[in-house]
Amino acid sequence: MIPMTELAAFLKAHDDYALFGHINPDGDAAGCCIALAKALRKMGKRAFVYLPGGLPEMYKVFDHTVEIADGRNLPFAPRTGFSVDVSEPNRMGAGQQIFDGCAHRAVLDHHATNPGFGEVCAVDGEAAACGELAVALIRELGVEMDPEMAQWLYIALCTDSGRFGFSSTRAETLEAAAACLQAGADVDGITRQLYRTRSEGRTRLLGLVLAGLEMNAEKTMCWARLTDDMLSRANALREDNEGIVNYLLEIRGVQFACLAEERGSVQTKFSLRSKGGLDVARDVAVPLGGGGHACAAGVTLNLPMEDALQAVLRTAEAALKNLQEQE
Ligand code: 5GP
Ligand code: MN
Repeated sequence: MIPMTELAAFLKAHDDYALFGHINPDGDAAGCCIALAKALRKMGKRAFVYLPGGLPEMYKVFDHTVEIADGRNLPFAPRTGFSVDVSEPNRMGAGQQIFDGCAHRAVLDHHATNPGFGEVCAVDGEAAACGELAVALIRELGVEMDPEMAQWLYIALCTDSGRFGFSSTRAETLEAAAACLQAGADVDGITRQLYRTRSEGRTRLLGLVLAGLEMNAEKTMCWARLTDDMLSRANALREDNEGIVNYLLEIRGVQFACLAEERGSVQTKFSLRSKGGLDVARDVAVPLGGGGHACAAGVTLNLPMEDALQAVLRTAEAALKNLQEQE
């Protein structure tokens, strides 16, 4: 049982909240944090959101009345830390220290691997988005969803479930989305901004990365590189990487896709995706020190791009071979 009632009681009992999302915040992390902070404020509490690096540019078109801090100046010293959509404490980035400094701590998450690092931890690995759990929590708190909360929760649900298309999508995902619509979420407006509008830089970066994609001889693995040089040539932002790896995975027959991103000369960050049954978290990311979900995982290696890529591809190749032998 997920202790949603206990979590609601905990939230009612405390005050002065900081809500923490994960590094490279996505729509689910940002959306849940903003909506839940708003809910807490409607309950008469003080609350702000902490997102490492701040709200990504692509989400700045969506309005919010909740304060978002990114490390330099906090609106107030939080007494209660609330970790949302964060699979493990170090994924809070610089926020971890602030979270650890809070007198009380709670966790809401949908990563099955979450070890539980608060007094109350509501974790449901079956939820397609943390947004599902946030909607349930808001209901449990007895707070009425307003259009601002509805907008951000819809963003959370829609982005993490792959527009309600991933296998993780379940009846509860759509029920939560329906609740957002009833509370005033503008589906056309939200999805136009999310999926039918992109900057010139993002478009050029997509072209540069995809032009260099490579595949194995069997055409079951596909990978591409995103270098600092490409970012500057495309005049793109770091966050414009989002979604590129999916183009690699969507190639017919590809079972494993990975995007290798240069982080200076000694670090490489990987976005790993799979279809057809390979568990990229368990069989590729975790053995290399990363984590994530079965079909979408990631890892950061302290190696230059080509060495890091070889390590990832070797691990993935072995995992795919293993899978084929089992079948
Ligand atoms: P993305 O490829 O979109 O950055 O991340 C996909 C998923 O992989 C995320 O939901 C997150 O759980 C996980 N992930 C991404 N990067 C890392 C990483 O560097 N370390 C760990 N432990 N997990 C990661
Ligand atoms: Mn999520």
